[in-house]
Amino acid sequence: MDRLRDFFLSVQKPIRYTGGEVNQIKKDSRGIRLRFALCFPDIYEIGMSHTGGRIIYKLLNDMDGVQCERVFAPWEDARREMKRLGIRLFSLENRIPLCEFDIVGFSIEYEMSFSTIVEMLRLGGIEPLSRSRGDDSPLVIAGGPVVFNPEPVAEIFDAFYIGDAEANLLQFVNRYIELKGSGKKKGEILERLSEIEGVYVPSLFKPDYDGLYLKSLPNKIVHRAIINNLDNVSYPVSQIMPLVQTVQDRFVVEIQRGCNHGCRFCYAGYIYRPVRQRDIQGVYDIAINGINRSGFYEVSFLSLSAGDYRGLDELFSRLNETFVSRGISLSIPSLRVDSAGPA
Ligand code: SF4
Repeated sequence: MDRLRDFFLSVQKPIRYTGGEVNQIKKDSRGIRLRFALCFPDIYEIGMSHTGGRIIYKLLNDMDGVQCERVFAPWEDARREMKRLGIRLFSLENRIPLCEFDIVGFSIEYEMSFSTIVEMLRLGGIEPLSRSRGDDSPLVIAGGPVVFNPEPVAEIFDAFYIGDAEANLLQFVNRYIELKGSGKKKGEILERLSEIEGVYVPSLFKPDYDGLYLKSLPNKIVHRAIINNLDNVSYPVSQIMPLVQTVQDRFVVEIQRGCNHGCRFCYAGYIYRPVRQRDIQGVYDIAINGINRSGFYEVSFLSLSAGDYRGLDELFSRLNETFVSRGISLSIPSLRVDSAGPA
């Protein structure tokens, strides 16, 4: 505990590592069957702006017996102090060292964070290469947009989860609990997990390269996991209020997933297909309840192309009836010029 105190006293922004924010979920370790480290390979201010992380945090913590805690990349000063004091990278909620989790899951949003992932694993006491980790090591997995092209980091991860977390992540976790509980070894666990749609286990594939290109396609094709309807899955209404200013410092409602414009250069336009819109009443309820449970002064309608959402005008006028008098503003983060009409 003294070392941790020294650590907090010697870094520039201790609040990045303390947790304790309004709406964080801190579970008692009694009755916990699986600990899941939700890792974001960037600093707190950036990771706390990530909507996918909020969705997974709620999804997993809603499960009985599952404890999901956040882990962000430490800034340079904190990395140095962790090494000096012999402290392993730990989670915000219960300060659990990374190597003591059952599953360590990274959400990868950009390729530039690959080297940070290796650093986080090392700081957390985990071997960075999958083949060097034995049966007692945590299962190291990854999801997010970057894993649609997983090969550059295939040797690091035991498994990739490709697609919408709401579709099969709970099945993945439940099956892991069951297999681990019955004493199965890592190889057998991975084989069984690979039966779940959206799960790619690199060690089960042997790519045959001819120079830069694959000579042939593997026998098994992994299909991404997709949810058909945003209204049928849970959404985080009680969002954590960061204690320092984050990059996106506002309450976020995902109004639509996917985009049908098909711009040839756009990665997101292809990997998030098809377009799925949340029901207007659903967005309205999330926005009202979310603001009532937090201190945010802005609601952002998250979408790849918000102008395509069919109920935008109605949403603005209904929400403004309540929000204008409270000084709460509405914002649209991503808008095509051709979808904007006259004021
Ligand atoms: S409109 Fe935007 S999000 Fe949609 S495909 Fe084009 S660039 Fe991508």
